[in-house]
Amino acid sequence: MNSDILINIKAIQGRITAACKQSGRSPAEVKLLLATKTVTTDRIKAALLAGNTLIAENKVQELKDKYDALSAVPHTNHFIGHLQTNKIKDLLSCEVTCLQSLDRLPLAEKLQQMLEAANRSMEVLIQVNTSGEASKFGIAPDKAIALVRQVAALDRLKIRGLMTIGVFCADKEKVRQCFRLLKSLQQQIRAENIPGVLMQELSMGMSGDLEIAIEEGATIIRVGTAIFGQRVYPDSYYWNENSGNA
Ligand SMILES: *Cc1c(COP(=O)(O)O)cnc(C)c1O
Repeated sequence: MNSDILINIKAIQGRITAACKQSGRSPAEVKLLLATKTVTTDRIKAALLAGNTLIAENKVQELKDKYDALSAVPHTNHFIGHLQTNKIKDLLSCEVTCLQSLDRLPLAEKLQQMLEAANRSMEVLIQVNTSGEASKFGIAPDKAIALVRQVAALDRLKIRGLMTIGVFCADKEKVRQCFRLLKSLQQQIRAENIPGVLMQELSMGMSGDLEIAIEEGATIIRVGTAIFGQRVYPDSYYWNENSGNA
């Protein structure tokens, strides 16, 4: 039975609505992305059929493993994990429309090359490490604008905004600072008027901090645990440089 998923989605929608009310925003401005790492295709399908069609994996292997089973149900694939250059081809074959975790130029250059060969383009978000934690991926905030400029020169990559993972911390003000930093980078980059660069998306906020993220301007929140339940693997398995990430 997957009825827990439907109940949980309702609860998340309620949290989105409440947070939007709190900050005078419209719930229509906030997209719910389902973070589906470790979740079975059976359960992902239940969520898709409930009307939430934006999903994302962290690992290419999981993306590939689930691709066939999910192809029967319409949905949009983003990618939110650390990506190795030799796995880009799998992103293309699995029809990922947006890479939210673009965090370095060599990856962007290889992606440009492969998109050109396939005569395609891809939307990207620049992932920024707003918490300063060594265990998280993303470009340092003071290097983000330079990276945006470099990526903007690659015509197959469509920059649509920024992504971050907030610090894990009971101190909500510290979490809020991460999201404020991302928002302020968005405004700085907008002011640069870089040709081809759109800064409409701020992907920030997860199960534990989505309210703060929405208050600070999130347009995409990425939710896993609060919809699908606790994962067996700790998140460090997905987020650490040394986790053998694929
Ligand atoms: C797992 C994951 C999420 C969702 O986290 P939850 O706490 O389970 O909601 C969001 N973003 C990224 C990058 C993730 O890896």
